[in-house]
Formats: sequence, structure tokens, C-alpha cells
Amino acid sequence: MILETFPVGPLQCNCTILGDEETREAIIVDPGDEITRIQRRLGDLGITLKQILITHAHIDHIGGALKLKSLTGAPIYLNEGDLPLLQMMAAQAAWLGITTPETAPPDEGLVDGRLVGLKNYPAQVIHTPGHTQGSVCLHFAPMKIMLASDTLFADSIGRTDLPGGNFEQIIESIQSQLLSLSDETRVVPGHGPATTIGAERRSNPFLK
Ligand SMILES: [Zn+2]
Repeated sequence: MILETFPVGPLQCNCTILGDEETREAIIVDPGDEITRIQRRLGDLGITLKQILITHAHIDHIGGALKLKSLTGAPIYLNEGDLPLLQMMAAQAAWLGITTPETAPPDEGLVDGRLVGLKNYPAQVIHTPGHTQGSVCLHFAPMKIMLASDTLFADSIGRTDLPGGNFEQIIESIQSQLLSLSDETRVVPGHGPATTIGAERRSNPFLK
């Protein structure tokens, strides 16, 4: 298994490449920026991109998706609850004072319960609204890894003050959907360091 997580762009969104060393196929999660660097890495690894998975439509997570699709031909997956945010890309760019990236409607939906990823490394989509209405986490159950987007961070949770955010909803999503996973599940958030479900259950101040 190839598994690399690295921050990209001014907001340091965690981008993840997951590849199968046997089939030389890969998926990527949240290629928000630095697409030239990402494409070079895919080439160095000698892997073919099959899916571009976007955990939510904030610009720092989705900004590079269409450019990466045009370079690789891989389809873009996004939960339809975030289509309104996709329409707001110019406003999102203005918040950050950066150029508006090109966007397009997603090729596939990330509906709750759907299996995505690779044959040997599948992930179940967990719809976790609250940070945005279309936020999803990706649970790679066989590997006990969860990509938690901007829903759950080490000792924190995602902000809910942007359009589509809802504090009660994000707490409910985390309590009902994420804390039900086993303690040893490794959590890779959308920003910052990795953690585990057990550590967050014990010490996350927002979940007391
Ligand atoms: Zn976000």
C-alpha cells in the first residue's frame, strides 16, 4: 500500500494519495492546490489515478480538482449537499484573496454508505454534515483509517460559521457517526496532525 498525506496550499489542506503497489492504481483525496507537485509525485510513484475524492467543497480542498482531472482524466466525486458551495467559488476565493479556480459539476456523488476507493483498499462514505452540508468522511475499515475532512481534528472540530455550517449538526455527526468507530481507528483530519478515535473520545474538549 502507498499512503501519503501532505499539506497543500496557503491553508495547508491535508491531501492524501492512496495507491495499490500491485495494480499501480491510486486515488487522491482533497487535491486543493499544488497540482504540479501532485502530478509529479504520481509520476514518480508510477501510479494511475482512478478517482479524485473531495471531502467538501471549500476552496482549500477542491481548488485543484478540475486541473488534476484535466491532467489525469480521473473523475471527481463530491457529495451533492455541497453543490451550492461549488457555485460560490468566486466568493470563497475572495475570502482568501486568491484567484478563483475553475470548477465543474462533479462526475459522481459521494452518497452516504457508498463504497469508493480501490478494490484492495475500499472506503465507505460517511456523510457528516455540519462543517458544510455535503461534508463526508472516508472510512477505510480494513486498514482502520478514517479521513475526517474538516469535521474532526486533533483536539478540535471544524468551524461552523461559514455558509452551510451548523454547530449542533457537526456535534451530532461526530457523536453518532465517528465516535462509534473503534478506539484504535487512525484519524487523518483535513488539516493538522493525525489522531485516533480513542484519543478524541478521551480528550477532545468539544466532545465532553
Ligand atoms: Zn473546510
